[in-house]
Amino acid sequence: MAQEQSASPPVITGLKGLCPRCGKGHLFQGFLKVRPKCEVCGLDFAFADSGDGPAFFVMSIVGIVVVGLALWVEFTFAPPIWLHFVMWTALSIALSLALVRPSKGVLVALQYHHKAAEGRIQK
Ligand SMILES: [Zn+2]
Repeated sequence: MAQEQSASPPVITGLKGLCPRCGKGHLFQGFLKVRPKCEVCGLDFAFADSGDGPAFFVMSIVGIVVVGLALWVEFTFAPPIWLHFVMWTALSIALSLALVRPSKGVLVALQYHHKAAEGRIQK
């Protein structure tokens, strides 16, 4: 699999959801679906398989933030339990939706940058 190095840093193009090779075309069509290929440079995105990676990072980050905030709010203000439920459910959903797309973009860009792919047995 011959791939050229990306033009811009993979984390930046990934966060912006841009093509990891040219940094101009879009990586996504819709919210999380990866396009078949880049509309600018024609890079085939078939290699892009981030699997459960984005979900893992989003769960970890959101879990730490929400649990930390919930503990701080409980010990500082001691609000009723229903308010905890409403606030942290809404924040968990909002943060997850905000983070999952950039997270997937970064993982796909890093996969391209490091030429990461499934192992194959050479014949
Ligand atoms: Zn491109």
